[in-house]
Parts: sequence; structure tokens; C-alpha cells
Amino acid sequence: MTDCVFCKIVAKQIPATVVHEDELTLAFMDIGQVNPGHVLVALKAHAENLYTLDDAQAAAVARSCARVARAIRDAFAPDGLSVYQANGKPAGQTVFHYHVHLLPRHAGDGMELTWPVKNPPREKLEEYAAKIRARLAR
Ligand code: AMP
Ligand code: ZN
Repeated sequence: MTDCVFCKIVAKQIPATVVHEDELTLAFMDIGQVNPGHVLVALKAHAENLYTLDDAQAAAVARSCARVARAIRDAFAPDGLSVYQANGKPAGQTVFHYHVHLLPRHAGDGMELTWPVKNPPREKLEEYAAKIRARLAR
């Protein structure tokens, strides 16, 4: 995609600080650095979001995430690591080229995710699950 910033990074048309590359993925430093060591793992191919990935692409991103996460852990010794991935504007996606954030975390670092649990009854869980299973079975 010609106007996609991550496609331009993959094509080396704009600079990025790369930490890992393989056939299908590119991992580079997030320019915003919420905490030092904040990395994005992106598909090389333009795919807007998680829904569009084929199995090989999904597996490649997962493998790169696990590898780079271990390197971040060893390099920065964070208290934790958040894996964050947004699909669609309401979910917080701002760059519409599939990527995963690997974000080293430290106690009191100010990053917050509001998580308004609803704790519905088991019947509701069964109802929601049935909808998903029906689509998976297609
Ligand atoms: P999101 O789509 O919300 O997952 O976030 C996109 C992320 O891409 C943000 O954290 C930005 O800081 C990051 N970003 C945007 N442009 C660049 C760039 N040219 N190089 C590195 N990171 C970028
Ligand atoms: Zn792209």
C-alpha cells in the first residue's frame, strides 16, 4: 500500500530501527517508546488487521513475538511485558497495517488499560460461546 507508513518501513522508504527480520515479519522500535525497549512486530505484507491473516502469517508473527519478547526481557529486565494489538479505531488502532506491541512494563509506569468486567452468569458465557463455535464450524 503506497500510503501506509509500515509498508514504507518494510520497503526501506522511511527509516526504522530494526531489531529482527525474517521472511514474513519485521520487528522495529516503536517511535513513541512508552517504555524503553517498546517494539512493534509487523507483518511485512500489508494486512490491515488480525482478521485478514492466513495461518502462516499468524504463526510467523507469534514466533517473532516470542523470540523478541525473550530478548527484551533479557535486555531490559522489566517487571512484566504487555502484548498489545489493536484492530479497528474503537480498539485504539492508529496504523492500519497489522502489528503487535511488545511493551516492557514496570511497576507504576503509568500505562493503564481500563477493564470493566461484567461477570455474567454461566448461561451468558454459553450463549456467547455458541455464537463463536457456530462460526468456527463453518
Ligand atoms: P496502534 O495502531 O495503536 O497499535 O499504534 C501504532 C504505533 O505505531 C504507535 O505506538 C506509534 O508510536 C507507532 N508508529 C507510528 N509511526 C511509526 C514509525 N514511523 N516508526 C515506528 N513506530 C511508529
Ligand atoms: Zn501497510
